[in-house]
Amino acid sequence: MQDVREVIKSAGLRVTNQRIAILEYLIGSDGPVVLHALHKKFSDTVNRITLYRILNDFEEKKIVKLFFGQGGQKHIEFIRAEKNGSHLHGEHLHFQCKRCDKLFCLDDVEVKNLPEGFNLSSAQSVLVGKCDKCD
Ligand SMILES: [Zn+2]
Ligand SMILES: [Zn+2]
Repeated sequence: MQDVREVIKSAGLRVTNQRIAILEYLIGSDGPVVLHALHKKFSDTVNRITLYRILNDFEEKKIVKLFFGQGGQKHIEFIRAEKNGSHLHGEHLHFQCKRCDKLFCLDDVEVKNLPEGFNLSSAQSVLVGKCDKCD
């Protein structure tokens, strides 16, 4: 696991216990986390406003990515350094299954054939459909 303190520090943010706890949780989750699950997890230790502020800081520093899943549910995902080899620098598309609601990271799927002169910097929305486990 990456050194959480180092990730926060090298992003230019002050290292606080709350930031460490939230980032550790996101890293340990190995995939996107729904915002309300994060609320629930930290309801005793981090108030709602602080949580939003921390997530906004993380997003601004490109430590996490925020995007909306099916039904407008906000998701948060730690952007792994290993993925930085991709042309989108850690960006990738997501796919959510309508049946089981599971969310998948599509690391190897690229958005191609954008019109001439268009430049993709972020993929905020989610592709919706049916996964290979559901019929
Ligand atoms: Zn499914
Ligand atoms: Zn992902």
